[in-house]
Amino acid sequence: MSVRILLIEDEDEIADFLVRGLREEGFVVERAADGQEGWHQLKTSAWDVVLLDWWLPVTDGLALLRRFRQQNQVTPVLFLTARDAVSDRVKGLDNGADDYLCKPFAFDELLARVRVLARRQSQSGFTALSYQDLSVNLASQRVERSGQRIELTSREYALLVFMLRHPGEVLSRTRIYEHVWEERYDGLSNTLEVHVMELRRKLEAYGPRLIHTLRNRGYRFGGEDT
Ligand code: CA
Repeated sequence: MSVRILLIEDEDEIADFLVRGLREEGFVVERAADGQEGWHQLKTSAWDVVLLDWWLPVTDGLALLRRFRQQNQVTPVLFLTARDAVSDRVKGLDNGADDYLCKPFAFDELLARVRVLARRQSQSGFTALSYQDLSVNLASQRVERSGQRIELTSREYALLVFMLRHPGEVLSRTRIYEHVWEERYDGLSNTLEVHVMELRRKLEAYGPRLIHTLRNRGYRFGGEDT
């Protein structure tokens, strides 16, 4: 299977050069041009390697990396930056970067480092989420329960992945809404309820209830029945 790389870089010239070069080497590459788009790509799709620029509009690379690691994401991240002070390098690594490359760098060196990280990632095999008889392949976005394929809309998929990453936790409507919809939750709209209902209907076609409603508190994926 091809290696999937997410490049989060705001400078078009560098991004175009890297995307072209990496594709020529047979990698699947997507680019995000700012921190917000980068975050969206990070949480809605699975990547083998992330190339992350430090200085980015909206949310900088370091903040993005911190947030990513706080969600227990282990995808290798290579920091790309013009910063070359030792303290900055340490800061990047301390916050969960796996490697560090200072601009300007030679493409061959980037390639060598990407290969190392991709190999490490493929050995760790972290491309699936599962809970009991439910499994989600984050690379192909295939969802199965008891061996049966379930077709979800992209929003239902994002909702399910978010819940699968927090099994047994109380998830407030605000938290779910702001994560999956990336908008402020006004407490009035029933968009979330409608999506939960539809997701439940699809999941429950092949097994017992997994998404539990907690009165006045939100939802919980899995765990004891209430
Ligand atoms: Ca930049």
